[in-house]
Amino acid sequence: MAYQTINPYTNQVVKEYPNATAEEIEVALAAANDLYHQWKREDLATRQAQLHEIATLMRQNRDELAKTMTQDMGKLLREAQGEVELCAMIADYFADHSAELLQPQTLETTATGHAQIKKHATGVLMMVEPWNFPYYQIMRVFAPNFMVGNPMLLKHAAITPGSALAFEQIVKQSSAPNASLTNLFLSYDQVSDVIADPRIQGVALTGSERGGRNVAREAGVNLKKNTMELGGTDAFIVLDDTDLEDVADIAWRTRLYNAGQVCTSSKRFIVADNLYDAFLERLRDKFAAVKPGDPMDPQTTLAPLNSKKAKEKLQQQVNAAIEHGATVYYGNEPIDLPGQFFQPTILTDIQPDNPAYHEEMFGPVAQVYRVESEQAAIDLANDSDLGLGGIVFSGDPKRGERVAAQIETGMVFVNNFMVSLPELPFGGVKNSGYCREMHELGLNAFVNEQLIVTADRPNMDNLAGGLVASDPES
Ligand code: NAP
Repeated sequence: MAYQTINPYTNQVVKEYPNATAEEIEVALAAANDLYHQWKREDLATRQAQLHEIATLMRQNRDELAKTMTQDMGKLLREAQGEVELCAMIADYFADHSAELLQPQTLETTATGHAQIKKHATGVLMMVEPWNFPYYQIMRVFAPNFMVGNPMLLKHAAITPGSALAFEQIVKQSSAPNASLTNLFLSYDQVSDVIADPRIQGVALTGSERGGRNVAREAGVNLKKNTMELGGTDAFIVLDDTDLEDVADIAWRTRLYNAGQVCTSSKRFIVADNLYDAFLERLRDKFAAVKPGDPMDPQTTLAPLNSKKAKEKLQQQVNAAIEHGATVYYGNEPIDLPGQFFQPTILTDIQPDNPAYHEEMFGPVAQVYRVESEQAAIDLANDSDLGLGGIVFSGDPKRGERVAAQIETGMVFVNNFMVSLPELPFGGVKNSGYCREMHELGLNAFVNEQLIVTADRPNMDNLAGGLVASDPES
């Protein structure tokens, strides 16, 4: 059975779900397409109220929703509750701001008439989402596109079916139309079939490079616009004028939050020579202080990884890194608990010919590099096929900003955590994907930006720039 919840703390199979039938898929597509046409006739105020209602329902059901996520993929209950609150914030933000952000835009032009861009919905979207933030990843696509008027079909990760159903249930509980979001337990082939359906007008995927390539290929073959939010090997640069007191309590959190399973986790710490030894000691002390245990227990500070497969993959990556010359500065010992725990680990002495140098490690493993100069830090940060986010620390924020601008990624934060908020665009460059979610950029991802030029009556004065036949008598 492809879709199943296996609690990664107890290793118990909680529930299994059959794949969607062809009939269920057809019913979902037809209902979503009908809703697209219905929404075209409605104004935004109705959906604004419905999206606020969804935010309220999420807050009211926070603890139950959080428990479902923790059971599906193991994250700390406290972090799961925070994720539900973030989802409510995203819903409120797009409910409050979309009407203004979707206003027609007037263009200055030499064309005769009033030129404007009107923003319309485009149709039904297929969204494919990962397990690491089971609600937040859905909400990043759902809230803006609900306001735009694009109904959505959801294919969630096979290991988080409980969360997929819980999110869908919140939408159904609200007064939003049922077809606003339909969860379908789809096989990969069924996802391809849905993408090929003429009623689908866009595809949004968050996930790995592998998943992204495959789904983007299906979208490309079928000429469907798509957004790709993929992996990262984000650098955390500590420049030589940094006060380590500022960094000590942040560095470990950027790696261990969500048990290190975050696309924008700091995966490569790039530290100036003069601070390297002290930085390592502090990171080790923080890593050593975490307490693995039941993720539902508020005392626990290290959650299990999402699955046995994830733990095995990470262990293989760490083993390969060591075989290729990496030093284990701290960690890599088994944790004596039945769940899928991985001890926070610090690797050093990773050279460019080590596979770890290029790979994303999706768990609590920090790579720490020593650099001799600012330029060496920038070069190392950019020596990656991925380009999602990053953090730069400096005693001089202006210097930090100057360095940040030279990092080839979609997002860089200077002297602080990386945060995800609805008003900030989220996304990367290189193999981390393309397009942005959230912010106005994300709102417009699946909008038809339609040009309308309206003249009072024809005017033949300005033919020079027009694609019109020249006068046969001139
Ligand atoms: P994944 O294997 O690519 O899975 C993501 C989603 O894509 C799942 O629903 C998966 O379904 C589906 N999928 C994969 N291959 C598919 C195919 N050929 N056809 C149709 N659907 C397919 O990613 P993951 O390993 O679970 O997630 C972790 C990755 O996501 C990391 O690389 C992380 O950095 C990245 N991520 C990126 C962002 C961002 O915003 N940039 C945010 C979070 C995570 P199944 O579960 O059924 O395989």
